[in-house]
Amino acid sequence: MSNTPGQPKLLPFTLESLGLVDSDPEPAFDNLTALTRSLLDVPVSLVSIVQVEKDRQYFKSQQGLPEPWASKRETPLTHSFCQHVSSSGLPLIIENAHENSLVCDNLAIPELNVVAYMGVPIHDPNQIPIGALCVIDSKPRKWSEDALNSLQQISACVSDAIRLKAAVKTGESLRQEQKEFSYAVSHDLKAPSNTLQMIFNELSLLPELQDEDTSGLIELGMETLGRMRSQVDDVLRFAEVIGDELPAEKVDLAEVIREVLADLQGDIRDSDAQISVGEMPCLMGSRSHFHMLFLNLLSNAIKYCEPGKPPEVSISAITGRRYVRIEVEDKGIGIPKKYHDRIFQVFQRLHTRDEYPGTGLGLSLCRRIVNNHGGHIEVTSVPNESTRFTLRLPGVVE
Ligand code: ATP
Ligand code: MG
Repeated sequence: MSNTPGQPKLLPFTLESLGLVDSDPEPAFDNLTALTRSLLDVPVSLVSIVQVEKDRQYFKSQQGLPEPWASKRETPLTHSFCQHVSSSGLPLIIENAHENSLVCDNLAIPELNVVAYMGVPIHDPNQIPIGALCVIDSKPRKWSEDALNSLQQISACVSDAIRLKAAVKTGESLRQEQKEFSYAVSHDLKAPSNTLQMIFNELSLLPELQDEDTSGLIELGMETLGRMRSQVDDVLRFAEVIGDELPAEKVDLAEVIREVLADLQGDIRDSDAQISVGEMPCLMGSRSHFHMLFLNLLSNAIKYCEPGKPPEVSISAITGRRYVRIEVEDKGIGIPKKYHDRIFQVFQRLHTRDEYPGTGLGLSLCRRIVNNHGGHIEVTSVPNESTRFTLRLPGVVE
């Protein structure tokens, strides 16, 4: 399929997959037909999708149609003026249907009371006409140029709403694909890595392999494998948070932070880190995701410090009317401004593994979690002095 230059690529779609036929009415379209009806002062306004192969026009939105059509939401093409708009891709303007040779025999005249009609095409995201936005009157009527212009402007909004639906669908399915792919890759790597670990364990116990060179190699192999396993775990965890449906649970952040600090106890003790925690609010969301979020932020704050200098970390929160602002600040090595976007990208690191261990997934995971919760994360830093991550997350609505 073709895509408009400069606009995001869309995946293939059908009228069904976009929910334009055989689907519930939607406010995005109903608001536009209601607006059309009142702006042009007409009894009926429709968004009609024409399906020639099914010999029907389907009303994605209708205002003012008589029964039974209002409930049926479709008619055969014997009752359709919109089919002419859709097939020609041009407006159709009829003052009096009885006197118009194109439609004078159309059954919409006796059964739907269509006498005056004005319809303009609506387009799918590939700019193909798929139906019409139309207005109908049950008596003859002259349509002004202004009325036609208004109808065309509103039909452009209908086409935009359709494109938006296609873009949302594309986003959803790409996210799902990404999730399944990361999950499959990392999951499939787990089994061979378990086997390798078992082999290394066995080798390390064999008496004939106890000389210094061989046991050094086995140790190196085990270390490398350990790193690979933790990377695979990270990717698995990342796959888990991509586009997850979030349980709307009330989470006490003070408790989450306490648990995270318990997880990090070894690192805190080894580095002699000073951690101060202010008063923490409750948030709505996933407890396990908040745990991952603060585990990553705090482990970074402890890790990215001058060697030998005890890390100083503080966490504070300010509760606003709708949002909570949380700051995680450290007095570590800092991050130059030019890297402030890059650090949130997958597998992007600013250091070698010898300087500071890690996979480069932590902050991309944090951003994904914050975004999934309808929030925002950003960083400010003074290199060689301090780094502050500021999170804005929706608070609990009592
Ligand atoms: P892991 O996946 O194990 O978390 P990582 O810590 O390298 O690996 P991220 O947490 O995504 O990955 O961080 C990306 C990079 O951002 C880090 O490699 C580091 O260079 C920089 N960084 C993150 N937090 C800080 C911090 N508090 N102070 C200084 N640099 C930081
Ligand atoms: Mg990290």
